[in-house]
Amino acid sequence: MINSHNFQVVVIGSGFGGQAAAINLKKQAIHDFVMLERRSFAGGTWLQNRYPGAAVDVQSPLYSLSNLPYQWSQMFVTQPELAQYTKSVFNTFNLHAHVKLNHEVVDAHWDEDKQHWQINIQNQPAITTRFIINATGPLSMPVIPDFPGKNKFTGVSFHTNNWPDDFSLKDKKVAIIGSGASAAQIIPAIVDEVRTLAVFQRSAHWIIPRPDIKFSTWVQKLLGIKWVYSLLRNAIYWGLETRVIGFKYSKWVLNLFAGGPARKQLKNQVADLELRKKLTPDFTIGCKRIILSNTYYPAISRKHVSLFAKDNGIKTITPSGIDTEDGTSLDLDVIIYSTGYDATDGLISYPVTGKNGTQLSQVWSDYPRAYLGTCVPDFPNYFIVTGPNTGIGHTSAIFVIEAQMHYIMQAINYVTAHNKTTIQPTQSAETRYTNMVHKEMTRTVWHTGGCNSWYKSASGKVIAMFPGFSFVFKRMCQRFKLSDHDIQ
Ligand SMILES: Cc1cc2nc3c(=O)[nH]c(=O)nc-3n(C[C@H](O)[C@H](O)[C@H](O)COP(=O)(O)OP(=O)(O)OC[C@H]3O[C@@H](n4cnc5c(N)ncnc54)[C@H](O)[C@@H]3O)c2cc1C
Repeated sequence: MINSHNFQVVVIGSGFGGQAAAINLKKQAIHDFVMLERRSFAGGTWLQNRYPGAAVDVQSPLYSLSNLPYQWSQMFVTQPELAQYTKSVFNTFNLHAHVKLNHEVVDAHWDEDKQHWQINIQNQPAITTRFIINATGPLSMPVIPDFPGKNKFTGVSFHTNNWPDDFSLKDKKVAIIGSGASAAQIIPAIVDEVRTLAVFQRSAHWIIPRPDIKFSTWVQKLLGIKWVYSLLRNAIYWGLETRVIGFKYSKWVLNLFAGGPARKQLKNQVADLELRKKLTPDFTIGCKRIILSNTYYPAISRKHVSLFAKDNGIKTITPSGIDTEDGTSLDLDVIIYSTGYDATDGLISYPVTGKNGTQLSQVWSDYPRAYLGTCVPDFPNYFIVTGPNTGIGHTSAIFVIEAQMHYIMQAINYVTAHNKTTIQPTQSAETRYTNMVHKEMTRTVWHTGGCNSWYKSASGKVIAMFPGFSFVFKRMCQRFKLSDHDIQ
């Protein structure tokens, strides 16, 4: 039975970030911790995103926890298998015993006298803890822009993140707003079912073929062997790591290996020249997340599908549908918002108050920033998983999460092993790190590619991405620098 207060560590969130934190705490023989999860189920991204066609776009043997072989059915698995995998992680490491469901954190503040954090929770008693590991997810706060008339629509509407269970789109007149990664998975998955489909595209995306393969039974058996799994992971990892050369060092390489296949696929799959023009992006490939799909263009070319581009967007949402800029009135049963997440300025959705009443929102008023993307001066013993500039467009987010664990565990261990109370980065170490990140960022296609993406905060700075090789980030996390910290 878990006490409801005074834990050594509180982990906020139960996605792969929370799971990796819990597994690593147990490895360090720290069992006095709890995972707080706002939802009625544990598991994060792949339990929550249940939309048709939901699938990972990083090869599954790499998009998984290291040292835990898993017999995947294909290279890029779909949501049900990822949900199953997540559940198997919970069972293997006995994590359910540590989870408190329906516990939404609404505020956290540092108590200087008592040298601990107080965490306030919606409709639950407050909890105190020495350390917080915030793992609330980079893509867990859905955003729906304020379209005029949005609340007047009398049909069914929802964000892709909140897809209703057992909901049929059969014979329905549907609009999907957005054409990014989720929409590109949903559209081919629902196109046969709907009566009509209107797709509202703010900007065309670069789409490259998805090199998926099904694993035969004997390959799956091999995946169960630790060294084979590890070999395959490594091969995939180093293959993907070469993409950084394109994203950061050479537009020529990017264009050759990604732009070429993307243009070829568009030409081969979309015969209608006008439609092809609408689907041709106006920014450098890689500036926004590159979409992997073999089925998007055939789906969007179907007769009952219409594409509304930027020049003919939404004027207003009406009780019965959508009026467009060119005067078309669409009669609709369903509006699907595939409008993404707040991955930058809204990274942490609850107020956090550190030493001397310092508000995290104030420190981040220009843009979110953190030492190793993980911790912030004046916020002692507070660690952010997938914090500012930790996103990785070319490889698995779980790789980065596990890299952060090296740093977080060393920091916690140092404090406890040396009978200290608090650890935080020095201001000069954080400034040096942040300056380095944004200097390096100026060389990347996310900065120079001529697009406005969800990688950028309101400041215009790229906040969602780490500007370089993921093994460089991991090495920085592994090399704990005592002199970069203020330890009391
Ligand atoms: C549709 C989709 C597809 C994706 N595809 C890929 C991919 O192909 N490759 C890749 O590398 N990454 C992908 N990602 C990114 C994905 O977010 C990461 O891979 C990874 O799952 C992040 O894990 P996490 O634990 O940090 O966040 P999450 O899995 O989002 O978990 C965060 C948890 O915190 C909980 N929470 C949030 N706020 C609070 C609060 N205040 N109190 C209590 N609990 C709270 C949430 O309910 C959630 O369960 C995808 C994301 C989405 C949404």
